[in-house]
Amino acid sequence: MHFLDQAKIFIKSGWGGPGAVSFRREKYEEYGGPDGGNGGKGGDIIFEAVQGLNTLIDFRYTQHFKAQRGTPGMGKNRYGAGGKDLVIKVPVGTQILSDPKPIEGSEDEDGIPDYEEQEVLADFTEVGQRITFLRGGDGGRGNMSYKTSTNRAPRQHGTGWPGQEMWVWLRLKLLADVGLVGMPNAGKSTLINQVTNTKAKVGAYAFTTTKPQLGVVLHKQREFVLADIPGLIAGAAEGVGIGDRFLGHIERCRVLLHLIDATGDDPIEAFHIVQDELSAYGEGLDEKPQIVALNKGDLLGPELMEDIADQLREEGVEDVFIISAGTGEGVEALLDAILPIVGQALDDAKPESDAHEEGESPWSPL
Ligand code: GDP
Ligand code: MG
Repeated sequence: MHFLDQAKIFIKSGWGGPGAVSFRREKYEEYGGPDGGNGGKGGDIIFEAVQGLNTLIDFRYTQHFKAQRGTPGMGKNRYGAGGKDLVIKVPVGTQILSDPKPIEGSEDEDGIPDYEEQEVLADFTEVGQRITFLRGGDGGRGNMSYKTSTNRAPRQHGTGWPGQEMWVWLRLKLLADVGLVGMPNAGKSTLINQVTNTKAKVGAYAFTTTKPQLGVVLHKQREFVLADIPGLIAGAAEGVGIGDRFLGHIERCRVLLHLIDATGDDPIEAFHIVQDELSAYGEGLDEKPQIVALNKGDLLGPELMEDIADQLREEGVEDVFIISAGTGEGVEALLDAILPIVGQALDDAKPESDAHEEGESPWSPL
């Protein structure tokens, strides 16, 4: 499976409606003047950043977005109605980028061309932000407007201006709502597996084919993204072995979930190593809300786990959750605690469903 932070979509604004060719019909006037009205403007393609969407997952299933045509003009100088605009809802943090085309004549020996640079065309940084991205075509003029002193009965009319169309990429910078941190072997991958496998309708997206490092969790009607921040420990603060993408992840996530292997040599020390790494990274990382979960409870038993949890509390950790990422024990309660921090109801934040090309059946979960 793929890591879904980008999607390629086709967008098209509506054609303008054609202008009408029509002549007045009056009782005593054989040759009434032209009275064909203008066609309506085609619908615009508008993007809007909304609350409650955290991924571009829906754009996997809906890739074509077309706004309505304007309707034709009519006689008696009536104008056609404008086509309905199509509002495409995207998560805050989404960028719209151009679809780079190959540069002509740039092919190498193997026929592989260079590509144009991908351009950022729009950037959605706050809820409610709206951008009219493609304007619908203007309606064509009705024959009334072609009337001149020499041509009193024009049959000319405008056919309406075409909409604009293009392929664009949507890219979501903000990915992780919950950043998973912890020493290697703490059970981060196992936890992601657990929450993505046990929850219905959850996608597991792997950066690698072996272990998922990012999962979309749907819990109690809320959706959030949980991401392992690989390499945070092994010198991540100096930027070793960690891509900008991951740094973006961790800077933006709203809560850190700090996972500790309770069966490790010294869980308390492990906790401090990670804390120090977070402080060293800077960017206010160590000030983010943090939930601490003591993992592998199935191996130690409740008393020992409580013992270690108490030690962590003595270190100033307020909430310690005891879980087993392997068996799923305690995970539900952990997700419950995460929700109020990251949770936004999904509401009707999904992209519009009437946005399909004719002939395409809309996607729906089974
Ligand atoms: P990561 O390095 O933090 O991603 O850790 P992994 O998820 O790869 O887990 C490291 C090892 O611990 C693996 O062998 C897991 O099977 C094991 N493990 C993780 N969570 C649990 C757990 O809750 N119980 C048990 N028994 N083993 C676990
Ligand atoms: Mg791992």
